[in-house]
Amino acid sequence: MRKEITKLLKQSYKPDRFYGRGANYANVVIGSKIEALKQFGHTLISHYDSVSGRAVYFYLCKECGKIQEGIFNKTFTKAGTNFKCNKCKKNKVSK
Ligand SMILES: [Zn+2]
Repeated sequence: MRKEITKLLKQSYKPDRFYGRGANYANVVIGSKIEALKQFGHTLISHYDSVSGRAVYFYLCKECGKIQEGIFNKTFTKAGTNFKCNKCKKNKVSK
């Protein structure tokens, strides 16, 4: 999971706000994203920190373990956040 989320974060994080703050800082960010994925099933990069200027969300599919990203356009329900896994093609709900 660490390798995969690191790759995704490198693609979407503003470099000066990620490794630009030092490898130690970047590792703390990576660790906190992994913790959030495990605990909540999703995490994000805020619009301040993303290269696109829009918040980027990451979802962990608890069935197949795939992490996928998307601009925030998901549906919130009382049960959680609906998203469709790109790998196993099932609709999921993360807390
Ligand atoms: Zn899946």
